[in-house]
Amino acid sequence: MPSDDHPNLGTLSVWAGEDEDLLQKPSAVPVVHSVSFDYRDVDEWLEVALARKRGYIYSRNTNPTVYAFEEKVRQLEGGEAATSFSTGMAAISNTLFTLLSPGDRVVSLKDTYGGTSKIFIEFLPRFQVGVSLCDTTDHEAIEAAVAEGCKVLYLESPTNPTLKVIDLARLAAAGHGVGATVVVDNTFATPINQNPLELGADLVIHSATKCLGGHADALGGVLCGPTDLVEKIFHFREINGASLHPMAAYLLLRGMKTLHLRIRQQNESALKIARYLEAHPFVERVFYPGLESHENHDIARRQMRGYGGILSFMLKGGFDAVRTFLPRLRYAHLAANLGAVETIAGPPATTSHVECTAEEREALGIPESLVRYSVGVEDPEDLIADLEQALAHAAQAVG
Ligand SMILES: *Cc1c(COP(=O)(O)O)cnc(C)c1O
Repeated sequence: MPSDDHPNLGTLSVWAGEDEDLLQKPSAVPVVHSVSFDYRDVDEWLEVALARKRGYIYSRNTNPTVYAFEEKVRQLEGGEAATSFSTGMAAISNTLFTLLSPGDRVVSLKDTYGGTSKIFIEFLPRFQVGVSLCDTTDHEAIEAAVAEGCKVLYLESPTNPTLKVIDLARLAAAGHGVGATVVVDNTFATPINQNPLELGADLVIHSATKCLGGHADALGGVLCGPTDLVEKIFHFREINGASLHPMAAYLLLRGMKTLHLRIRQQNESALKIARYLEAHPFVERVFYPGLESHENHDIARRQMRGYGGILSFMLKGGFDAVRTFLPRLRYAHLAANLGAVETIAGPPATTSHVECTAEEREALGIPESLVRYSVGVEDPEDLIADLEQALAHAAQAVG
């Protein structure tokens, strides 16, 4: 504060009332909207600017509310360091563009998230990065592609929207065999159900927009792993600018207070619903890693503590059935999102793979009769009754 005893109204408008120690020790994490942070001591300012001392300079780089969010995820994932991003896609693209240079090669899966798949197909090749996308559950094929040499092995499990599961420990070992950095998108599992770093991955990524936040009111992304790697990616992000907003960080932090409770409920409800759907005559097939009929249930049982709240299923009667069925659901948002407290349903054409053409979806093995169903925290018996009436309606109208 300037010490002028008689400042004018303009100066008072700017400075009055804003003491440095406004922040005592609030019980809830405060939303620090401030773009920058003041220093009276220029030497200390320099120490922080040179990263020799922890502190905040400018909120594109670091911010206290954002830091609290990063720290919560870091501890849940068991990482050495964490950094955050404006969205999940920013976390993914910043990571890939930091780690890959022209002439490098990346190996990944055909079933990665639609936006991620676009980076592999549309953007990385423009920078002369070689991309090999393997059949998601063909572990031998992935190992063979990795053995040809790659800089990054990029994995996701369970996948979106057909809930394929891959053996992360086995593939992390394959990646390390050729010196690759192994990255895992853990959005679907959450750290409550699966910790990729423990399974051997180098970096774990989340779209915090989904289950971490859990309330469908904030976008965000986060990355955890060893300090040297995270710092490199943080540096790319602080310069390229895809920083998490403090208000979003606050909403994500608040949502995460109940992460374990939500995921526990969603694990339990989704399994009940998957079993119910599997026995329904109008349902052709159910994809859920917790079902004994899931092609990689054994791997899921080994590497996950719970199977998550997201499942998908194919209706008999193709896309016409989907179109009739969805609007009949009373307790589901029909929206392009997942992992929230409310149940959310939608077809891949407007949700996970909205970025892809029908031909691309076909090539990725995503049926047009598929419904993705993200189970909320409602009472599962009400969700089952809701599905029952919507299925009956669709079966009658189409079947
Ligand atoms: C939604 C999603 C993303 C992208 O996250 P945004 O926050 O929407 O950018 C990445 N990976 C998976 C598995 C997702 O579901």
